[in-house]
Order: sequence, then C-alpha cells, then structure tokens
Amino acid sequence: MAPMRHERAAKALLLAAIAALLVLGGVPLYRHRHFALPIVSGPGVTRITRLGDFCPSLKGTAGDTTVYILEGREPGGKALLMSGTHANEPAGLLADIIIVENAVVDQGTLYVIPSFNNSAGRNTRPGDGYPLYFDIPTDWGRKRFPMGNRDASPLDQWPDPDVYVHYPDRQLLSYIDARNSNRTWPGRPDGFLMERVTFAAMELMRREQVDVAVDLHGAETMFPVTNCIVAPEKSSKIAILATLTVKAAEGFDSHVEPSPPGFRGLSHREIGDHSGAAPFLLEAPIPFLDQPTGPKSVKLLLDGKDPFLLSLAGKKKLFVPYDASGWPMDKRVGQHLSVMLEILRQYSKKTPGRELIVKGVPRYADVVKNGAGRYLHDPAKADPRSVVTD
Ligand SMILES: [Zn+2]
Repeated sequence: MAPMRHERAAKALLLAAIAALLVLGGVPLYRHRHFALPIVSGPGVTRITRLGDFCPSLKGTAGDTTVYILEGREPGGKALLMSGTHANEPAGLLADIIIVENAVVDQGTLYVIPSFNNSAGRNTRPGDGYPLYFDIPTDWGRKRFPMGNRDASPLDQWPDPDVYVHYPDRQLLSYIDARNSNRTWPGRPDGFLMERVTFAAMELMRREQVDVAVDLHGAETMFPVTNCIVAPEKSSKIAILATLTVKAAEGFDSHVEPSPPGFRGLSHREIGDHSGAAPFLLEAPIPFLDQPTGPKSVKLLLDGKDPFLLSLAGKKKLFVPYDASGWPMDKRVGQHLSVMLEILRQYSKKTPGRELIVKGVPRYADVVKNGAGRYLHDPAKADPRSVVTD
C-alpha cells in the first residue's frame, strides 16, 4: 500500500502548490481590479454625474464611469474631454485629472470623463509583463495610478465573437476590437458593454449639444499616426490652426492626420457623423507601447527612454524625433493639455456665441518644467466631499 499512499501525498502536495500559486497570482490582480483612484474635484467642478445617466442599461455595470461637469459663469460652447479610452495610454488620464482638479471655466461648459473605458482601466496584460501601477511624484508624496489595458476586461464583456460586426455599418473587424471602446462608436443601448459605453457618450453629446469632443490617446513611435491630431473634415481647420499655433508659440511638433471615412467605429469618425460635435483624437508618442523595447517597466512608461528605440531612431525607423532624453510622461501630458486648450481657443475664435474660455490649466512648458505631479492635489488634505474615488 505504500506506493499508493505516496502517490496520494504527491497529488495533495501538487494540488496545494497549484492553489498557492493561484492565490499568489490572483490577489494582486484582484487588488488592481478594485483599486480606488481618488480624484479631487477642483474649483471649477459644478456637478458630477455618471455616464450611465445617459444610458440606463449602462447603470450599475463595470462600464459606468464618472463625468465631471465644469460650468462657466457665462453660457457658451460645450466640450467633452475623454481619456482612458485605451487605459494603457495614461498621459491622457493625467491631463484630464489635471483639468478636473485645476480648471476654472469662465465661459461655456466642460464635460470631463477621465476613465472612459473603466473596465479597461481595471484590466492588465500579464503576458506582456505590464506593471499594475505607476507612481507620479507630487509636492505631497507619490500619487499611485493603476496601469490598465487597451481592451475591456473579459470579466466584464465575454465571450468575444469570432468576428466583430460593427453596428450600424456591418463592417467586419477583429474579434478583439469588440472590447476596444475606440471601435464601438456610435454604439447602441442594447448592444454589448462597450457599445453601451459609447452610446451613452453619444447621448450625452446629443442631449447636451456638445460642440467639441476630444479623445486623448498615446501611440507608438514606430506607428505613423503619432504625435498628431486625427480629425475628420468638419474638424480639420481647427486642428490645423491648433497644431500651427502650438508649434509657433510653444515649440513642439504636432500635425494633422485625416480621419479615414471607410474605417468605422472610431471616435474621430463616428462622433462627427452621429452628432453635432466636431471630434479630435490626440496622439502623444508613448515608447512603452512600441514592440522592440526592453522590459515593460514603470521606468520606461515614465521616461520613455529605450536603447533599442534609440538605435532604430538612428536608422530612421521612427515617426518622431527621438534621442537619449526619451519621451517623458511630463512632455506627453503637457502636449495633450496645450493642444486641447488650443483646440478650445481656436473653436471659440471661429464660433461667436459658443466660446469656451478655460483658466487655471498648465500648458506644455509649465508641465515640462514643474512635472505633472505639481498639479495633482492631495486627497487627504482636500474637503472629503470633493474627493471622488472611481
Ligand atoms: Zn489609443
């Protein structure tokens, strides 16, 4: 009987080892999924609502998210600012949080959605060794942010289709794009979760008569559509003026890429086709997302320095200027803020009666000099009623 007992003991040991590994691997993922990011509603926030208020079937789901409303003293134009569509491109999240915590609107209304794809913000990419968090130094200590993924978590939207059929154009897209909230515009109220997220945002824009929609992203340095504004015909004049102005006045490059009419599901296409708003998608370079880099470390995410990209830059394989200084987070956040403010300013100049006048937001040079953390407020010192955890 001895060999039998040995075998049972070995099986029990193996089972215990597997259970231990599952717990060890699962607990950090569980904590990341339930991480609460505190945001301090700044002096300009007049109302806070949820995206689900614009689509009842989104309420109570993992796709619902906070919408910060900043109403000016005077009426004017309206802009929707979104980040976290792709939650692994976090410069946009920082830029939008800086607006929520600091901006004061003199004229017009801002609607800010920092974590547009809330489910993707709670997802990760273990196979690529993504870090679960990154910390930004501030004047009061380090503020921790969760690092998300490009797509919604399969825990929230499952199963994936074999082929994703876009609604309403019936274009056939890759199965994985069913969980990519930048392929599910304009969405529908009875569709899958990501369709309900984009439908709710479309409803917000239609009901509130939003004029301008800005979607903040990051793109690989080896991808041609980077360091730019993607704009359809209706937005292109303002986009061109914004890129020319930031180049002349603030000294950084950005250019305009036309939104291709045949490629469906993207914010820069569908928002303009299905509402009165003029859409703009901003891409800032993010070396972390390039394929041929070293380890996907927090350091690479924050400083954008990579020896392999540096060598590829020498061979002219990158679509942005790249040297040993990398492409730091502060530069990306500053670019997003300046381009966004410039779009609002150009829109205001061209559209009397629908002005959007925003104060208190740092621009490119400020963020590069002081660091993005300078503009993040300490939730522990803020009025608890103004702190929102999402
Ligand atoms: Zn993106």
